[in-house]
Amino acid sequence: MCSIGEDDFGDEGGAHAMIKDNEMDTSCEVDQVEKIVCKKCNQNLAAVKIQFRDAECQNCFLMNVRHKFRATLGSSKLIPKDSEILILFDGSNASIVLADMLHYAQTQNNFKKLHCSTKLLYIDEDFGHNLDLKEIENFLRKYNFESYIVSLGGNGDPVNFKEILNYIQNPQRKSEEENFQTEFGNIKTLTSQQDYLERRRKVILKKAADFLDIKFIFLPDTTSDLAVTLLTDVSLGRGASMADDVSLCDNRYENVKFVRPIKDLLPQEIECYLKFCNLNHTELSEHIPYGSNLESDAISTIFRVGEKIAVNKKNQDVNLESTLEKLNISSTKCMFCNANLDFFDSNTLLAIEFSRLASENTDSENLDNLDSLEKRAWESLYGESTNDKILKNLCHGCRNLYRDCGNYLYM
Ligand SMILES: [Zn+2]
Ligand SMILES: [Zn+2]
Repeated sequence: MCSIGEDDFGDEGGAHAMIKDNEMDTSCEVDQVEKIVCKKCNQNLAAVKIQFRDAECQNCFLMNVRHKFRATLGSSKLIPKDSEILILFDGSNASIVLADMLHYAQTQNNFKKLHCSTKLLYIDEDFGHNLDLKEIENFLRKYNFESYIVSLGGNGDPVNFKEILNYIQNPQRKSEEENFQTEFGNIKTLTSQQDYLERRRKVILKKAADFLDIKFIFLPDTTSDLAVTLLTDVSLGRGASMADDVSLCDNRYENVKFVRPIKDLLPQEIECYLKFCNLNHTELSEHIPYGSNLESDAISTIFRVGEKIAVNKKNQDVNLESTLEKLNISSTKCMFCNANLDFFDSNTLLAIEFSRLASENTDSENLDNLDSLEKRAWESLYGESTNDKILKNLCHGCRNLYRDCGNYLYM
């Protein structure tokens, strides 16, 4: 549990580490910091100064971030009382904070208590390194959440951490992971590999939630994670899934919702939360695949741009049903990432398809006949020029991924 005792303020190391903001002199000595009183309660000494906010003591800081978390959940009215929730625990600092906040909210007295039951899911991406799993199991034990493990390369059936030995020794899982690794190795570029991993994690999460019959998955995405996602989506032409990839609630699936309750927390708030709650996280932090160090100014700019782009994707083809039938496409959703298929009447994607065909066809005779090239671009965009049933049913981003994986996707 958290220790937010006021006695800790004299702690030299802690106070030093917390002062990061420009507005508070980063070089100031501890005794100078101690003279600053918390602007919220006007009682305790300030321990942290987050950008654009007043200096806060540990108590006020923790109250603030926990309130932010509860307000995000409360204002959305997304989660009905007594719902079951599955937290994605990936070993990152943010996922530790998310688990701790949920634990805290559920162990309050009745008035403040968050009424829900929580299970925890760890996606195993580190095939065969059993030592790490033990460490994670030990860490999770203190929260008393029922905890599960699922393999990124497997079929999505989660296993209770209590049966970790069965999980480790399961020959079927091992062979599925070998297949996965082979297919993953065939993905040509690093960007596509990362994009694939992101999509694959969602697929596995959805399968695990279905297996456990849970309707809400909490993701540990924070502001800076989402800013990176937004930029990546733009660069990969994933306009179709961008809004769902960064919003509070990802609505792409009917029966399972991905929720991001700490999406407004800044990296500095995550750091301070861990520190003030004495959460021992150093041994787990190496599980984070990649981090980001975006400044908060940059983050808000990225989101403003992102909002503008996301608005433009609302216009849907009114004749969608008949178009689907004509093209022999079974659903309006991408069969890998489940985003809405994005190529209907899209001039942007037509232009991209056009330039792709043009660059493949460098002989001048073909390029002279631009009308025929445009016709072929349309056919290619709608999947008419191919008998490949999978390609037809993928969004633009996943089609690129599919091509990069050598016309195959391990789903
Ligand atoms: Zn205070
Ligand atoms: Zn897709």
